[in-house]
Amino acid sequence: MKDRSEQMVREIVIVGGGTAGWMTAAALSNKLAGTDASIYLIESAEIGTVGVGEATLPQIRTFNRMLDIDEAELMARTSATFKLGIEFCDWGRAGDHYIHPFGVHGKPIGPADFHHYWASANAKGQTDDFGSYCLPISAARRNRFDLPTENPASPMHAYSYAFQFDASLYALFLAEYAAARSVKRIEGKVIAVDSDGESGFIRSVTLESGQQISGDLFIDCSGFRGLLIEQNLATGFADWSDYLPCKTSDPIGPYTRSTARAAGWQWRIPLQHRIGNGHVYCDRYISDQDAADMLMNNLEGEPLADPK
Ligand SMILES: Cc1cc2nc3c(=O)[nH]c(=O)nc-3n(C[C@H](O)[C@H](O)[C@H](O)COP(=O)(O)OP(=O)(O)OC[C@H]3O[C@@H](n4cnc5c(N)ncnc54)[C@H](O)[C@@H]3O)c2cc1C
Repeated sequence: MKDRSEQMVREIVIVGGGTAGWMTAAALSNKLAGTDASIYLIESAEIGTVGVGEATLPQIRTFNRMLDIDEAELMARTSATFKLGIEFCDWGRAGDHYIHPFGVHGKPIGPADFHHYWASANAKGQTDDFGSYCLPISAARRNRFDLPTENPASPMHAYSYAFQFDASLYALFLAEYAAARSVKRIEGKVIAVDSDGESGFIRSVTLESGQQISGDLFIDCSGFRGLLIEQNLATGFADWSDYLPCKTSDPIGPYTRSTARAAGWQWRIPLQHRIGNGHVYCDRYISDQDAADMLMNNLEGEPLADPK
């Protein structure tokens, strides 16, 4: 039996350099600073990253704060815009739209939440639409933004915010952060994984160049491929298709828009320098070509590239 010092994790190998890989590398390099742990990150320029993931939720700020990242610098480096929520168009029926905000509607009155009073007044035709009682929705509808305050008594305290940013620039930003904290980047394509015959634990990975990289802990950030967790460890994929049958020159607003389409939805994510667009669909209900045409026919301006 190994003693405790032999069991300690010293060599950490992250496979993949997309958002997940570099977020992991940045977080570990921060938290393990001053220990004798070594962190390696393998990525392949030939494979590249999925290159999407531009609309975030407020939790991203908790992560950035944990790393002492300066928000203004981050925004400048990633061409970020502020986000107060997500606007959903045509989901209930054509013409419908509402904003899902990062904030509350109204305030509790006595023991009951605001929405009970609103529902009661609405049934009598005595109220405005629900969104008009929510500060971030009202601000987003007017294309306005301000930072929330720390003062819990202020109405400006009752919401949060997130960013829309260029995901590849965010990964690059975190890569610089991690490199400054001794994370070693290794360029190359993993072509083989070697695991312990008895325990099944991964011992090393081999690159196309023949280089072998061993480690005590491997973290799979290889994206959809699931190079380690799926292809090697076959941990299994939780199929949610039963719950999500979707498999099936506006101003820059501080929100992401998701619009229902015949076989899925299209999103619009405004950045400083371009508007990110995509179409998520189920190929059981629409062909790849028709889905691509639907995306391209619903852009606000000239496309900057072919769909990925
Ligand atoms: C259509 C769509 C829209 C999305 N929109 C959002 C959004 O708005 N907001 C959001 O938060 N998320 C969004 N997501 C999810 C988000 O984009 C992904 O979860 C995230 O980008 C995945 O990043 P990743 O680092 O896991 O994978 P990837 O970006 O795919 O990175 C994988 C990495 O692994 C490396 N790699 C793979 N195989 C090998 C190999 N054999 N050898 C060496 N390296 C290898 C690649 O080179 C790459 O560096 C969206 C996803 C999709 C598909």
